[in-house]
Amino acid sequence: MERDFNFVCNKDMCAGCMLCVDICPVQAISVMDGIDSYNTVINHDLCLNCGRCHKLCPQNSLVNFKEPVEWYQGWSLDPSVRANSASGGMAAEISSKFIQNGGEVCTCVFDNGNFVFNFFDKVEDISSAAGSKYVKSNPHGIYNVLQDKLANGKKVLMIGLPCQIAAAKKYINGSNEQNFYTIDLVCHGTPSPELLRLYLKGKNMALEDINNIQFREKNIVNEHMSVEKNIVNEKIKDLYMRAYDYGMSYTHNCYFCSYARLERISDITLGDSWGSELSQSEKEKGISLVLCQTTKGRELLNISNAELLPVDVNRAINSNLNLNKPSVMPPSGYKFFSEIKRGKSFQVAMLKSDPIWVIKHRIKNLFPCLIRIKKKCGGGVSTIQFGIKYL
Ligand SMILES: Cc1cc2nc3c(=O)[nH]c(=O)nc-3n(C[C@H](O)[C@H](O)[C@H](O)COP(=O)(O)OP(=O)(O)OC[C@H]3O[C@@H](n4cnc5c(N)ncnc54)[C@H](O)[C@@H]3O)c2cc1C
Repeated sequence: MERDFNFVCNKDMCAGCMLCVDICPVQAISVMDGIDSYNTVINHDLCLNCGRCHKLCPQNSLVNFKEPVEWYQGWSLDPSVRANSASGGMAAEISSKFIQNGGEVCTCVFDNGNFVFNFFDKVEDISSAAGSKYVKSNPHGIYNVLQDKLANGKKVLMIGLPCQIAAAKKYINGSNEQNFYTIDLVCHGTPSPELLRLYLKGKNMALEDINNIQFREKNIVNEHMSVEKNIVNEKIKDLYMRAYDYGMSYTHNCYFCSYARLERISDITLGDSWGSELSQSEKEKGISLVLCQTTKGRELLNISNAELLPVDVNRAINSNLNLNKPSVMPPSGYKFFSEIKRGKSFQVAMLKSDPIWVIKHRIKNLFPCLIRIKKKCGGGVSTIQFGIKYL
């Protein structure tokens, strides 16, 4: 690939893995979040032209892919682990057994308004990392620590998005690889955290004020996001999750992701077992899709206390678009970002770009209020304004 000396990778294609920022010996690189794309910018006054950032960037050259050799659907046999997780709790289950066996786990947590990565060496702490955060997380600062731990003989399991695992593999570049275990997630794409901030701003909230944020909850048919401290519990899919699920809100690179495919780069890949034929009650408790690519992956499954059942591979692939290809931005996504860039709020941008869905869901949201008001007023609908609740 021909090198553009202004950016580390092609314009608007940065995945935000932060490898270049961490590897630069003179701190010449910064990442600019343009809300619909990230760019890594090089300060030429500082740059030594060593070319390491360009060479190691996982967007410029890929790591080795392997076909899954074992396919399962399953869950942690610890009910609290399963209940606390996004699907079957396999990530937390494997993490806690890995730590019990003397290793450390590097994964994403929500901390003081930021989605960052921590190293965990205590089983009791790992539950703080459970749950899928449908936002771009930031692995800044982990790579060097990871390299040192591996060099000191520590076994480390990293759990993250495929682009982040690829970055870690590039950074360690094969050294002490026998100590490095990896789990990637099937990934639909990730929005900039700035978009989440904008969404919360429309609700008079700031990410920094929030203790805990949960992007999906079990036993609620329509997924919604809940945030603790200021509790938002709308019981229907909210605008943030609509934009997310519909693929309207990711950064540009996600729509061209080279890691959204059947061949994987990690020892294990976890996703949701969409299309499972298992009972509704198991689905409500959460079922993970588990792909195992390597003998290290098998080792991780051997130590975990999990129910692992056969899965219909074709059905799993067909039910999970991102095991085949990256998400595609719908036309409403372009409109959404153009409204955001014109300074509109998240809520107004959604109304303008996806009006039918927004209006339908406002009405749905209104419905329980209307029934209550109707009962109180003996059927009159003149009080409709009391029921209007903006998402
Ligand atoms: C952004 C994103 C997109 C996803 N898209 C799909 C999809 O299209 N199809 C599908 O089948 N599954 C998808 N998943 C995976 C799914 O949500 C579950 O993570 C998976 O089923 C495993 O569930 P679990 O119960 O084992 O673990 P979970 O409770 O989900 O825990 C997952 C682990 O991943 C880490 N993690 C959570 N969020 C992030 C993040 N933003 N960045 C880095 N690490 C993170 C956590 O710290 C934890 O260690 C996605 C996950 C994420 C985070």
